[in-house]
Amino acid sequence: MPWTALGQDRALALLRDSLENPAHAYLLVGPEGSGKALLAREFARALLCSDRDVPGGPPCGDCTSCRRTISGNHPDLAEYQPKGRMGYREEDTEGIPATAAVSPFEARYKVFLLERVDALNRWAANSLLKVLEEPPATVVFVLLSARPEKVMETIASRCRVVHLQPLSSQAIATALR
Ligand SMILES: [Zn+2]
Repeated sequence: MPWTALGQDRALALLRDSLENPAHAYLLVGPEGSGKALLAREFARALLCSDRDVPGGPPCGDCTSCRRTISGNHPDLAEYQPKGRMGYREEDTEGIPATAAVSPFEARYKVFLLERVDALNRWAANSLLKVLEEPPATVVFVLLSARPEKVMETIASRCRVVHLQPLSSQAIATALR
């Protein structure tokens, strides 16, 4: 998928400009339906892709790494989302520090993608904070939220915040094609 299919030009520009020297953590903020998860996954794929032909370019979509991220079994991409309405439980995120401490298996980075980080309670957030406070050089967090006012300040302050705009239905249709 070419980058431009995602809409979100400003957020995209920030992410792709940082692709060759990524921050340890990003917080993607935008309303429901703004394409946060889509953008986050493409960014994660680009970080892990072994065959991008230009700096800042989109994931090639064809290398082993891309094929694994697309089929959801790349060993260096860990995705998290809260189960149910209660939000994350402590056991949902407790494995993060141990996983982050291990070097990437195949890619240059280990990417942690967490949806709805506003739904982390204090205990679930603790595991994340342990790594965010002293992140290994190879770890990149991509955190998502539609309710940034509910994201803990201790987490948000350690992230590069990227704001997405509400998407037009036309842009959504294009992205889904
Ligand atoms: Zn690739």
